[in-house]
Amino acid sequence: MAVKGNVPYDPQNVFARILRGELPCNKVYENDYVLAFHDIAPKAPIHVLVIPKAPYVSFADFSQNASEAEITGFTRAVGQVARILQVDGPGYRLLSNVGEEGGQEVPHFHVHIFAGRALGPMLPE
Ligand code: 5GP
Repeated sequence: MAVKGNVPYDPQNVFARILRGELPCNKVYENDYVLAFHDIAPKAPIHVLVIPKAPYVSFADFSQNASEAEITGFTRAVGQVARILQVDGPGYRLLSNVGEEGGQEVPHFHVHIFAGRALGPMLPE
């Protein structure tokens, strides 16, 4: 179920538990700022999630409250993960769902990287 916007950070959300090592993940990349791992229910041949290590609920929270270093570190890491996945040649799609109408299910900011085939229209008609 989608989460409402403007909620306080829930430290029991599934990505917080992955960051604490309480749940496993199939890791692609990690640095001081981010962890990237394969989505458990991929919606494209390549479907990777990039999450900040710090506790931000959504892009709305991250863009308002993260430090310059966190924002730069996160943005560069997304590009780095795309290079690791070797998708920057053929292309890929970035997506971040925010809040209820955005369809966000996990209340820890994340960017989806979709790739591996022509991805078609941006949204269903
Ligand atoms: P959202 O709808 O919040 O943008 O996307 C959440 C994503 O997290 C979904 O694509 C879902 O498949 C993925 N996900 C949910 N639980 C887990 C988990 O335990 N492990 C991994 N790797 N992905 C998860």
